[in-house]
Amino acid sequence: MSPSAQEIETALHAHVIGQDKAVRELAVAVAMHVGARDYQGSTPLQKMNVLLVGPTGTGKTEMVSRLADVIDVPFASLPATAMTQPGFTGFDPDQILKKLIQRAGGKERARDGICFIDEVDKIARRPTDDSDQAKGLTTGVGVQQSLLDILGGAVVEILGQGPFDTRGVLFVLSGAFVGLERMVAGRLAAASRVARPLSADRATLLRQVEPRDLVAYGLIPEFVGRIPVVIPLRPLTEAEIVRILTEPKAAPVRQMVERFAMLGARLEIDSTWLLQVGREAIARDTGARALLGVLQAHLSQAYRDARDGDIVHVRGLEGGIEISRAPEVLVT
Ligand code: ADP
Repeated sequence: MSPSAQEIETALHAHVIGQDKAVRELAVAVAMHVGARDYQGSTPLQKMNVLLVGPTGTGKTEMVSRLADVIDVPFASLPATAMTQPGFTGFDPDQILKKLIQRAGGKERARDGICFIDEVDKIARRPTDDSDQAKGLTTGVGVQQSLLDILGGAVVEILGQGPFDTRGVLFVLSGAFVGLERMVAGRLAAASRVARPLSADRATLLRQVEPRDLVAYGLIPEFVGRIPVVIPLRPLTEAEIVRILTEPKAAPVRQMVERFAMLGARLEIDSTWLLQVGREAIARDTGARALLGVLQAHLSQAYRDARDGDIVHVRGLEGGIEISRAPEVLVT
């Protein structure tokens, strides 16, 4: 039995913090995909390819890579930028399909696998594209064109492996699409003929994204036409970042606690400081990326000094951090 949309959603929530709406929509698209595996009817079913749009470090990759654990289908991923090597004319979609077949252990199982292509915003049309194309260089548009067949689903010839049917392969694409909100805002303003208040934030605008905004951003209409599901993600809140720091099995705080424990020391971190880290991450605009690095930067001195039996206590202070090693104060 294929997993239901609700089962996929619940399983993803064990790993993904927040992003409820995006998780739900992705689960539905994926459930439709796995549900179609044994379809025998006569109505042609278009693939439910998905585009995840939203700020960096907010869970797009996390969400998709967890799918492979949740549903039993092979999975391969590649950044779109890996397909734009200078000097190559036209991109060879073999790369990702070969990876998928390898993961699946053969073409038969790979036929209903999932391919994840990240950094799709980087293959949007650039002003220099036309002159590059004239010089025979691969352009973003060139990469988009070469993906059309496999996105739509066609039998393609894979070098050394013969024909491969991609009609059942689901594509999940993702990208930060910085500035896409301006296309949405512009369209909304033109439609209402009233200047939109500038206060509409990025997340609110991205929720209203339409295919034509993606075309305005530089994706070609044929490419956008092969991606029926566009899912916006929102920036993480401070509270969500604190949860990402502490809750998942491999959460950065858990890892640090273990590192100190290996020295025989107990690391205690107050929620006041976790909130500060959350605020810092938001200010950097990198979502939950590099959280481990932030912890590392702040705790490296304390780790160096820690001795067996110590209790290392970290708390946030107005404009700083206090690290004390019972009973003395080490760093303020
Ligand atoms: P992107 O949206 O750029 O693809 P990632 O999914 O790679 O970001 O997230 C970067 C890191 O932050 C990952 O290691 C992931 O564990 C963590 N992370 C980001 N967002 C979330 C989230 N919503 N829930 C759980 N972990 C997250």
